[in-house]
Amino acid sequence: MKIHEYQGKEILRKYGVATPGGKACFSVGEAVSAAKELDGRLWVVKAQIHAGGRGKGGGVKLARSLDEVRDHASAILGMTLVTHQTGPEGKEVKRLLIEEGADIQAELYVGIVVDRATQRVTIMASSEGGTEIEEVAAAMPEKIHKVAVDPMEGLTAEQARELAMKIGIPDVALDEASKFLMALYQAFWDTDASLAEINPLILTGDGRVLALDAKLNFDDNALYRHPELRELRDLDEEDPNEIEASKFDLNYISLDGDIGCLVNGAGLAMATMDIIKLYGSAPANFLDVGGGATTEQVTEAFKIMLRNPNLKAILVNIFGGIMRCDVIAEGLVNAAREVNLSVPLVVRLEGTNVERGREILADSGIAVIAATTMADAAEKVVAAARGQ
Ligand code: GDP
Ligand code: MN
Repeated sequence: MKIHEYQGKEILRKYGVATPGGKACFSVGEAVSAAKELDGRLWVVKAQIHAGGRGKGGGVKLARSLDEVRDHASAILGMTLVTHQTGPEGKEVKRLLIEEGADIQAELYVGIVVDRATQRVTIMASSEGGTEIEEVAAAMPEKIHKVAVDPMEGLTAEQARELAMKIGIPDVALDEASKFLMALYQAFWDTDASLAEINPLILTGDGRVLALDAKLNFDDNALYRHPELRELRDLDEEDPNEIEASKFDLNYISLDGDIGCLVNGAGLAMATMDIIKLYGSAPANFLDVGGGATTEQVTEAFKIMLRNPNLKAILVNIFGGIMRCDVIAEGLVNAAREVNLSVPLVVRLEGTNVERGREILADSGIAVIAATTMADAAEKVVAAARGQ
């Protein structure tokens, strides 16, 4: 789950991670009053969307007077912000963050991730902040320093200090920077985050270390332990199809191909997407209906897939293990009758009671293209999508 920058900063502050003062706003009037309440003569008006690259896209503006705060707030609120992470259609800005402007002396980078290779939480830091870390990694990988943290010990003061030195924090700010890193690690750990990225982490003219930006992602599977985090979810930022699917416990992710996939089991779903690609086409979605899919779930899954204007064909690939193929076939038939299928449907069933399952499909009167192997299914659905 993703959250907004201002929400991330509120969490980080509780852990003692230093950030500029700021306030979330939903209107231009609120933005101006927020700026009045904040100290200083420089403010930053920041678009709050779940995507990075806002600065380059015109979603982060400095203001030197309250009039400028008003102007920038009116320009940004309601704009469709396009960044390299939003895709060309962009994202409408509905929330702003008004912050005290910071006097930036250096822009650095720190990111915390779960590293599957080392099976540890890994902290990456660099003196090259402000730009995308992927670019730094490609052009000057030696400028990225990493520490894999022992889960029993946590990030130690020594590790934090060493990392801070490597990214060029001056001696006078080393204590503050070490505390910053340890606090950030603790926030990551306690919230079951999957990513905590501060880009840029800045050094100010008066020697302070601040999180100027904050991106926190959380592990969905751990959200049951954090009801307070769940409340930070902003449905405006999520794909409507994915929200709908989650209501029915369907594991659904929108993709940009034209073949809808309905599969049981995440591994089989991945393999199905791969084989569609191998046969020259691309999946419209990832969909795992789980081990015990009901007719209702299958019906909803069809409805969600059929809403996609790019959809050219559907491939149902079910392995009946615990679930029996005859039960699945009945569910499919009922679902297909209810939704009025407008694209070709290829079905591959395998497993327990498969013969009975195939009979049910064949007798249903629904135009099902039956497939046997994975390869057969992929070939048939790719051909059907192309109208062959
Ligand atoms: P992103 O583009 O979505 O990653 O948004 P950021 O929050 O990282 O802001 C982008 C850039 O705006 C930063 O790298 C800074 O260069 C600039 N910026 C943001 N806040 C301030 C500020 O308080 N003072 C100054 N001078 N620049 C800022
Ligand atoms: Mn940033």
